[in-house]
Amino acid sequence: MAIPVIGLTGGIGSGKSAAAERFSELGVPVIDTDQIAHALTGPGGAAMAEIGREFGPEAVAADGALNRAAMRERVFADPDCKRRLEAILHPAIYDESVRRLEAARGDYAVLVVPLLFESGRYLPLLARTLTVDCREEVQVERVRRRNGFTEQAVRAIMAAQCPRAERLRRADDVIDNNGGLAELRLQVDAKHGYYLANLVNAMF
Ligand code: ADP
Repeated sequence: MAIPVIGLTGGIGSGKSAAAERFSELGVPVIDTDQIAHALTGPGGAAMAEIGREFGPEAVAADGALNRAAMRERVFADPDCKRRLEAILHPAIYDESVRRLEAARGDYAVLVVPLLFESGRYLPLLARTLTVDCREEVQVERVRRRNGFTEQAVRAIMAAQCPRAERLRRADDVIDNNGGLAELRLQVDAKHGYYLANLVNAMF
């Protein structure tokens, strides 16, 4: 990598995007694997030709994007379908992340990876890992509000993710996002100062 990379992770609704937005405001290049996944499967996205070949025309919507509703059903009903879709998407997301990181300029970059510890694929790229953390009830409430999901639906997603305690144990650095957005910004600012000081001195 051209510059050191901080891997930003956290459970659903923990505040990864909100933290990433603040890093971006501070001038740090932010690369978000979810945004890359979305771009790859958007209209004319780089993964769409292969997805069309693998899953047939019903996987592709009229605008050329992934037919998300149809694929969600197929993936839900058939684990092998999920595996084949991921076999296309995961390497493509990784390759595009590396391309963007190599082009990134600054003192360091932030790479947002929701399932950082679950997959392990991105860990070798990173100088540090940073977890955004909040209590599970706060996660549930934020995702209910953001997505309109039921508590049960949010808890099912959380149960499929790395447990909070393990994420906290494995992260080098933690941001506590139980408070308000102003407090979150202050903590990102503090981490930014810490990374600048330590990365410049190559202490990591
Ligand atoms: P993630 O990217 O980890 O899923 P988001 O950053 O999207 O989480 O945050 C989930 C929701 O909670 C969003 O609607 C966001 O605006 C809101 N949110 C995040 N942090 C805070 C906070 N400290 N106070 C209030 N709302 C927050």
